[in-house]
Amino acid sequence: MENCIFCRIIKGEIPSTKVYEDEYVVAFKDIKPVTPVHVLVVPKTHIGSLEGLNDGNIENVVHIHRAIKKVAEITGISKDGYRVIVNCGEGAGQTVFHLHYHILGGTKLNERLI
Ligand code: 5GP
Ligand code: ZN
Repeated sequence: MENCIFCRIIKGEIPSTKVYEDEYVVAFKDIKPVTPVHVLVVPKTHIGSLEGLNDGNIENVVHIHRAIKKVAEITGISKDGYRVIVNCGEGAGQTVFHLHYHILGGTKLNERLI
């Protein structure tokens, strides 16, 4: 996906501050953090959103969740807690159409979801 910002970050064409990487996923700091720790975890394969998951690519969910735990460990938020958010579709505020999981932490988060 040539015009996808996150595909370009994965390829190294756009700079990012990487926190973690393995064969399946990359995790990098959000450019506009909303909490002291705000990291995005993305699959290396282009999947537009949660709605783009299917029987052929669903294993990415396991790789992403494994990476989320690693990112929490690396950034030191495992113990205090963190929030994971996936915006799916324009109505939910998704602006980049490459599946990504927001990891938010490093501060006490409001108990309200919205
Ligand atoms: P969404 O609203 O789609 O769930 O989240 C997209 C996120 O990507 C936003 O929090 C936004 O700040 C982040 N973002 C957009 N462009 C870039 C970029 O070029 N680099 C990084 N690191 N984050 C980006
Ligand atoms: Zn992409």
